Amino acid sequence: MNDFVIEPPARAALPVEGGGRFPVRRVWCIGRNYAAHAVEMGHDPDRDPPFFFAKSRETLDPSGAFPYPARSADVHHEVELAVALGKGGRDIAVADALACVWGYAVALDMTRRDLQAEAKRLARPWETAKAFDRSAPIGPLVPAARVGHPDRGAIALAVNGELRQEGDLAQMIWKVPEMIAFLSGFFELAPGDLILSGTPAGVGPVVRGDRMLARIAGLPDLEVRVV
Ligand code: MN
Repeated sequence: MNDFVIEPPARAALPVEGGGRFPVRRVWCIGRNYAAHAVEMGHDPDRDPPFFFAKSRETLDPSGAFPYPARSADVHHEVELAVALGKGGRDIAVADALACVWGYAVALDMTRRDLQAEAKRLARPWETAKAFDRSAPIGPLVPAARVGHPDRGAIALAVNGELRQEGDLAQMIWKVPEMIAFLSGFFELAPGDLILSGTPAGVGPVVRGDRMLARIAGLPDLEVRVV
């Protein structure tokens, strides 16, 4: 018997290349995970412990359209490798972490940079800057069984055909197995969890009408129109 007192929200799920859908549980993001991006944001590119923030799963958007959000005049693109977990656990060892990964996708961690700067200045949380509606455009997931576990290869983003972000997955300060191990020390991870693994240098603003093309070697391109 259905005893929900209101209509339950639709389950967030992402398309898988070749068919099927991946049900999403939680979305974690790692900050400052490429040295050159840490420097461009005014920080040292050292190996401090990683830090994490969250987007809600409802922010994920595979539609190919990004509505420019209200209350910001400085919205930035951040191209990131998304890591989808098929298994979870607590205190996962680095050596066991990749066995938890179900697949990968190209994603964007869209950011209201002006609101983030204000939040940093006032020591406030980041949700209005990071977890706004449709702030995580994402391409189709590809199973690790098909693509492997990419730890090197180009990651790039162009706006209207002009290259803006360019890096290599090998430049991650904290590698995918390490970020899974770290996260699992703070949270019990579970199937359906998604991790956005940080962005290389070159973040910058977009405006309505822009066409973003995000690419990671071995994965399907993600093309998103700012509307
Ligand atoms: Mn990011």
